[in-house]
Amino acid sequence: MLPAEIAASVEREVVRAYLDHTPVPDMTPEQVAASRRNILRLLHERDAVLVAHYYTAPVVQALAEESGGCVADSLEMARFGRDHGAKTLIVAGVRFMGETAKILTPHKTVLMPTLEATCSLDLGCPADAFTAFCDAHPERTVVVYANTSAAVKARADWVVTSSCAVDIIEHLDAQGETIIWAPDKHLGDYVQKKTGADMLLWNGSCIVHEEFKARGLLDLKAVYPEAAVLVHPESPASVIELADVVGSTSQLINAVKTMPRKQFIVATDQGIFYKMQQAAGPDKELIIAPTAGGGATCRSCANCPWMAMNDLQALEAVLRNPGSQHEIHVDPALGQRAMKPLQRMLDFTAARR
Ligand code: SF4
Repeated sequence: MLPAEIAASVEREVVRAYLDHTPVPDMTPEQVAASRRNILRLLHERDAVLVAHYYTAPVVQALAEESGGCVADSLEMARFGRDHGAKTLIVAGVRFMGETAKILTPHKTVLMPTLEATCSLDLGCPADAFTAFCDAHPERTVVVYANTSAAVKARADWVVTSSCAVDIIEHLDAQGETIIWAPDKHLGDYVQKKTGADMLLWNGSCIVHEEFKARGLLDLKAVYPEAAVLVHPESPASVIELADVVGSTSQLINAVKTMPRKQFIVATDQGIFYKMQQAAGPDKELIIAPTAGGGATCRSCANCPWMAMNDLQALEAVLRNPGSQHEIHVDPALGQRAMKPLQRMLDFTAARR
């Protein structure tokens, strides 16, 4: 099978299995309040800190803030977990984020509400197929997105996130290096166009961002002609072309704060609205960009099904029974190899702060 076919078939199977079998938890307001109290108490008792991604449910993000943890993108989550004094990290996000936390802090216990929370980009880039792809192009520098397994990172020269991808590829291109890029084809295409670098792209995609549609976005722009359009670069090129701002989650949140507009159409996971509305203040209106799922049953549209697995019940369960079914393990030798490209990214971004 070609890499593109592997990515597409794995994505379809896993997403369908998840959507078919995962019930949406239903809690009364009283149950939510009790669960919140339990989680706050257990975090304290277990010397644990909650690190949550912008795409998790608002209630989880609020708990991270209230308990002294953090809500951030994957790069900041990794930095925060590394620098925090707690001996246990509770990572509310998807599996590659837990693995990254473990690679950066192997001496800490890293737990996740569920180890089944994965990512279509990670799934679509199996380490053995990716290694073969790299081995076929030994002259190229291997750059992988953070949304990959520890094994794929271990095969890379650099790790990047969407907030630093353009800068790092520009840096490598200026040194005359040619690139293998994996796994997100849309982000890779965007970075290639921005930098002009010679990039060979793996054919992965995010099931959430790929659903944003240019046609629907044009229709929505006609309804809100004054709105600024904010787009995450994992979206298709036709959607990116309509953007006023293209950026990572943190960059999009910053845009609503600084842009003198009253309305924003946002093409990324709607979990971001919790922090984005805080940053925007009450006078600015946020509107989700249209997807193929409008009026349909698509639960992956603008709402990552794996991020949604980090619900209150799962969070309370990991704190009550922090056993092996929740713990992230990374083989130490593999972790050391994956640490090198991660450290390059951290050093590069720290030097530019
Ligand atoms: S939103 Fe997309 S990139 Fe992010 S975790 Fe979900 S599938 Fe992966």
